[in-house]
Amino acid sequence: MNIQNLDEVLRNALEDSRKYIREGKVASYIPELAKVDKNLLGASIITVDGDRFHAGDWQHDFTMQSISKTISLVFALQHLGKEIVFSKVGMEPSGDPFNSMARLETKSKCPSNPFINAGAIAVAGLIADKFEFKEYLSFVHKLCGRNSIDIDKNVFESENRTGMLNRSMAYFMKNSGIIETDVEKTLEFYFKMCSVKVNTNDLANYSCVLANGGIDINTGNRLIDSEILKIAKTLMVTCGMYDSSGEFAIRVGMPAKSGVGGGIIACSENKMGIGVFGPALDEKGNSIGGYHILEFLSSKLGLHYFSNEFSSKIFIASV
Ligand code: GLN
Repeated sequence: MNIQNLDEVLRNALEDSRKYIREGKVASYIPELAKVDKNLLGASIITVDGDRFHAGDWQHDFTMQSISKTISLVFALQHLGKEIVFSKVGMEPSGDPFNSMARLETKSKCPSNPFINAGAIAVAGLIADKFEFKEYLSFVHKLCGRNSIDIDKNVFESENRTGMLNRSMAYFMKNSGIIETDVEKTLEFYFKMCSVKVNTNDLANYSCVLANGGIDINTGNRLIDSEILKIAKTLMVTCGMYDSSGEFAIRVGMPAKSGVGGGIIACSENKMGIGVFGPALDEKGNSIGGYHILEFLSSKLGLHYFSNEFSSKIFIASV
């Protein structure tokens, strides 16, 4: 596999995945997201050696949504430490939809993990208590390699106005002591981090940091501590694709995180970071086209973490 082939494989992945788009639907529970064209499809790859590949609508902006939950987790772990963070959220997949709050009452007052909405809101509460949103945003700038990244105000306002299920969870967690800071301040932080507007190149840059042991290939700077990176990537494996994380692990086999804006990040250890975008979602809330692009790339390039195929060895040897 050489560089030229990687370009071709990415283009083929996109073309092969287009046919699934018609089976998906854009997220309409956030009114502003319902306006997005469901036929958009784009992808970017950045290898740890700094080669970049793009295809389709890779320059199109979309909001990070739940992909941001990986960044807020890393930010909270780096600034507040493991003990504090994991006193508020668990480490187990819930098996429930991302917006479910059922277990908060029936199982434990701690949300199951930091990637379901309740868990991410609990982590947002910890951060919002001590940090300004702009401090978090400047970390996003570093991870994505672009200082002009900002929130999409329309999406933020749309979700802030209508996100009553998230609001209910937050008040429920305030009542049980999981959220200790002001609930509306927590929700403002959470909705803002979900509204951060990126393209697939930004996502690939961030996932390349994840693939490259936490070090930014552009500057050589360490952006994520090794121990924290291990936690984040493990949770991406077990909980990153909501309640289809198990099937995704079999079919694709890369640490990944999706968002209802249609983005997915996936990283292949010491090889590459991948960012994909397709706003048509499957019934679990994952980009349907994006999922297939990743499955195609994983199979053609031998990127599954347990892949032992010839293609992966050739890839390592020559890229
Ligand atoms: N902002 C969205 C929400 O809270 C994020 C959900 C997602 O991407 N799965 O519902």
